[in-house]
Amino acid sequence: MTTIAANLQHVRAQITQACAHSGREASAVELLAVSKTFGVDAVIEALDAGQAAFGENYVQEGVDKILALRALRADVAVSWHCIGPLQSNKTRLVATHFDWVQSVDRLKIAQRLSEQRPDHLPSLQVCLQVNIDAGPNKSGVAPQELPELAAAVAGLPRLRLRGLMCIPEPTADVGAQKALFDQARELFEQLKARGHALDTLSMGMSDDMTAAIAAGSTMVRVGRAIFGSRPFKAAAAVA
Ligand SMILES: *Cc1c(COP(=O)(O)O)cnc(C)c1O
Repeated sequence: MTTIAANLQHVRAQITQACAHSGREASAVELLAVSKTFGVDAVIEALDAGQAAFGENYVQEGVDKILALRALRADVAVSWHCIGPLQSNKTRLVATHFDWVQSVDRLKIAQRLSEQRPDHLPSLQVCLQVNIDAGPNKSGVAPQELPELAAAVAGLPRLRLRGLMCIPEPTADVGAQKALFDQARELFEQLKARGHALDTLSMGMSDDMTAAIAAGSTMVRVGRAIFGSRPFKAAAAVA
């Protein structure tokens, strides 16, 4: 077994265990493999180990990988999620090549994505990124502005609003992790109570997915625990 296959097996076991611990079905939590900074060869290894959903942060890198994979494995069904900060000049690439965008945090970006989504493709699946711990330099809509943004995005013709995504500041304190994820879950439930048919609460990464699952996450986004650690330079480029 390759390392990636073994890592995937381990992460899936962790998800199953975290679900069992909170009385949830293991099938209630989807695993998104975050392949940013890794090549298409790593994606293929994961694919061959049964992984079919991948997340990318950098738009051009993601598009290159999507096209490379399509050329090598035209027959396989893969879903690609854009999870990185989005600029206006990149929305067309995203709308053309990705299946999901989890990092929508303002209406202007959502409008462009809807206008630019090609007619022959299904609606672009969207999560709103919420700035749950009010980090001043962070992406994400403020919780108090979320209902208005959700209502506007839900009305766009070529997008389908699926839920929320959040990236809390890293902390080793599991109780603190859980408290923030609980707040995200609460916002998610409030939007559903307002009539939005949402099914995706994307939260939890390599180091905090157990707390996220305990708080009701339906999708964990895992990079390092599957593919190994990333070079520092790439990590810095996130900012
Ligand atoms: C990089 C990244 C991940 C994965 O993080 P790991 O710590 O490698 O599991 C998840 N979500 C987002 C938005 C990311 O940028």
